Amino acid sequence: MIARVEPLTTTRRLSGPFDYRVDDDCTQIGSIVKIPFGHQKLEGVVVGLAETSDVPDEKLVAPTSVRDDSLPRDLVDLALWMAEEYCSTPARALALVTPPPGKAKTYLWAEPTGAHGKLTDKQRALLERLPGPTNNDLPALRRLEARGLVTITPRVARRAPRTNPAPDREVELTAAQTDALREIEAAPGEARLLHGVTGSGKTEVYLRAAARALDRDEGVIVLVPEIALTPQTVARFAARFGDTVALVHSALSDGERYDEWRRLRVGEARIAVGPRSAVFAPVEKLGLIVVDEEHDASYKHEGDPRYDARHVAEYRAYQAHARLLGGSATPRPETVHRTRRLRLPARVAGGRDLPPVRVLDMRESQHPLHPETRRALTAARKSIVLLNRRGWSNFLTCKSCGKAWECPRCEVALVLHRAERGLACHHCGHREPIPTRCDNCGSLAVARHGAGTERVEAELQQALDVPVFRLDADTTATKDAVPELLARFQAAPRGLLLGTQMVAKGHDFPDVTLGVVLDADSTLRFPDFRAEERTFALIAQLAGRAGRGPSGGRVLVQTRSPTAASIEAAARHDADGFLTGELERRRALRYPPFADLIRVVTRAHDQAAARAAAAHIAEAIDAPQTELLGPAPLFRLRDRERFQIVLKTTARADAIAATGAAVEATARDKAFRDVNFSVDVDPV
Ligand SMILES: [Zn+2]
Ligand SMILES: [Zn+2]
Repeated sequence: MIARVEPLTTTRRLSGPFDYRVDDDCTQIGSIVKIPFGHQKLEGVVVGLAETSDVPDEKLVAPTSVRDDSLPRDLVDLALWMAEEYCSTPARALALVTPPPGKAKTYLWAEPTGAHGKLTDKQRALLERLPGPTNNDLPALRRLEARGLVTITPRVARRAPRTNPAPDREVELTAAQTDALREIEAAPGEARLLHGVTGSGKTEVYLRAAARALDRDEGVIVLVPEIALTPQTVARFAARFGDTVALVHSALSDGERYDEWRRLRVGEARIAVGPRSAVFAPVEKLGLIVVDEEHDASYKHEGDPRYDARHVAEYRAYQAHARLLGGSATPRPETVHRTRRLRLPARVAGGRDLPPVRVLDMRESQHPLHPETRRALTAARKSIVLLNRRGWSNFLTCKSCGKAWECPRCEVALVLHRAERGLACHHCGHREPIPTRCDNCGSLAVARHGAGTERVEAELQQALDVPVFRLDADTTATKDAVPELLARFQAAPRGLLLGTQMVAKGHDFPDVTLGVVLDADSTLRFPDFRAEERTFALIAQLAGRAGRGPSGGRVLVQTRSPTAASIEAAARHDADGFLTGELERRRALRYPPFADLIRVVTRAHDQAAARAAAAHIAEAIDAPQTELLGPAPLFRLRDRERFQIVLKTTARADAIAATGAAVEATARDKAFRDVNFSVDVDPV
């Protein structure tokens, strides 16, 4: 028999699969094997079996070993689909779905057989404590085993990840929740979007839908955004379903990660919960995939393949004929366009109506805080303030000659971080000391422009008599920092939670009565077709954090674009109005969902090489119903000159195939040896 093996290597210049001879019966599609490959030994995945090979018999070699853990076949198929869908390689896609390294941890378990024999007092006492682990009594138990009085067998010990299960409270479903659940149940193999305002009880619908799936003996995958920021969903699943929930995320120890994978693979656990990579969980008989907060940008993976877990979830649901259930208070326009929506229009009993939102025009303002914001912050006991910009000042210039401080490796402004006494590049991590004089003209007048979270923290601390809790990438570098900071804010009698978009994610603090967005148009200024969508979602999500308790609340939005459609709609809580307008705009401009986008970026030290490679690819792409934009230069990043091509297409499959072929041909061309390529299908 011939096994067709994809070696797990990252190079693009190698195209498998390669044939190996296998003599055993245990090698199957999905087996993970060690193979001799040239002068190296590589791990590989068996992606096909055949009777014959084009390789002559004497040249065929056998794998040197087969791993005990194997991939289920549907994950092999999924990876091969991803390789094509994202113009990547089978090996890179397979690397995402292969089991984590490790082995089950075992211990010995002894049970009495019921047979009788002459026993000492010590032996009798020993038998009385059984069944149980052998622990230090193994030698004595072995002697009893030899006499047929006990059996000793290995058992698998679980290294369980730490969770903080929330107390599970019985709740009665609202009419809207009942209707939604009925619709989901009535449509096996279909997708539904649960569009419900924050606090409308989406999680309870997920939980019930999961329980129904378990009743049918089906497995479930629940995708959530970053776990540290949204621990409630995980906690509620753990509380309701106990050990049948496996947690799949990057903060687990190696042993925990392996055990959770194995428990899913053998069916001990039936529900996988985790961020985007949980979409690859080896769940058997998959019946339901939930994508919570489906608008969240963290579902997009930035490595190669640049997959989108939401799109991969669609494919897995299609493979398994499973139900797909997305949920959000601010769903993406494309999901709304193509998925049947189930509405949860009101907050569940005990929750207040959504808080009123007031837009504050900052066009004339000299000060970062509007007087009304200042008054409201002074009066509120608990508030959340969002500013989507880290650091102290976002750029520095020389007042005499105009020099702007830029990263030497990237064409971007350096951001001043005062606590670290340095300037930092937010793209490559470059750091340098704060300048005291201009190195261009010698002037001592260095101006600092703009305000980030660090500076606003200092200003708020000075202006208000309230403890400020800052939540951004600078204050949460360590693993447990986010939950600790959120717990401290929750416990504090008074406080202000200040931070980047992290503060607008799913937390639930009932005593927060004020939400503030500073510089709401910072997301609008991104040259990106999703700018409106992001701005709307950010304001609406923050509004969802405020006024959840009995004392209600309100939201203030400071902006220099008070009439922007996304800001006006968010202030009215008008998701439908926003979605209608946004879909019209996208239809007119041929943006998703009315066309698909594919972006190709070339990177090289040498600008001419990067440009030539991009031009070569653009030249080679031949796809119908496809508009090609570029090559256009991008700003230099990490010392690499970059060019991009963007395809706008209504023939998705053709355009992906043509792009993949063009990139592959260019990557193989020796003339472009020093150029790196990345392809992003559905860039976000
Ligand atoms: Zn100067
Ligand atoms: Zn840089």
